[in-house]
Amino acid sequence: MYHHIKKLMYTVNVGTPDTAFGNMLLEQFGGANGELAAAMQYTIQGWNCEDGPRRALLMDIGTEELSHLEVVGALARMHLKPMKSDRAAAEVEPLVTLSYGGGVSLCNSVGTSWTADYLKITGDISVDLRSNIAAEARAKIVYDRLICFTDDPGTQEALQFLMTREITHMRSFSAALESMEKPAFSIGTIAPTPTLVDEYFNASTGEGEVGKDHVGPWNEGNGLHIANSRRDGGEGLTTKPYRPQRGSEKTSSHDSTPVGAARSTRDSKAA
Ligand code: MN
Ligand code: MN
Repeated sequence: MYHHIKKLMYTVNVGTPDTAFGNMLLEQFGGANGELAAAMQYTIQGWNCEDGPRRALLMDIGTEELSHLEVVGALARMHLKPMKSDRAAAEVEPLVTLSYGGGVSLCNSVGTSWTADYLKITGDISVDLRSNIAAEARAKIVYDRLICFTDDPGTQEALQFLMTREITHMRSFSAALESMEKPAFSIGTIAPTPTLVDEYFNASTGEGEVGKDHVGPWNEGNGLHIANSRRDGGEGLTTKPYRPQRGSEKTSSHDSTPVGAARSTRDSKAA
């Protein structure tokens, strides 16, 4: 059940409207990393989630994002308002002026319509939480950039509030993932192929504009080592066939019901 309260989560004050900035703000309204995308992603993940505590987390944050959408919308409308009467302001974005009346609609900063294709919903809570951590990082960086492009104190403060909340969400999603107590790289039910999983393939070789090969913790150490291509005199990746072992991956009691893992059992029962 949803209930709307006639009060913004954060009171917005705009000094001098800046139409072009209002248009940039639409990126956080109807854009790929914007508030509607966050609200829909977490809410629908939450509806799918079978784990009570994590479902509650997704619903809390998903609903907060809807409140953020309302704040961004208020901020954008204040900045876009001159479009309604001023020719130069109207020309900043004719689509917003002529089609949306100088108000907000579900499009991004270049007028592309919002789409559910922005959403990452897999039905696997540990995978969804990772998507959400990344989504919060993207929302944070967009707010960070927006703040740098306005000099209006009220606008900066509202964006600072919204930006901060994304880091709080990122912390909660990270804690929710860690509290599942799964090994960091255990996803799903089938363990990856031993040996092959430790091979970092040196697939880009030679000296290009941005330099040559580098050794770092991403290719040496952390259980990883470099495998050079046969083309470069190496052994290449281990391509020896390996049969997938169902149920071999480490799982958590908080995991979502595995999809496909019980298939043969159910099929034989039905037969
Ligand atoms: Mn938000
Ligand atoms: Mn957030």
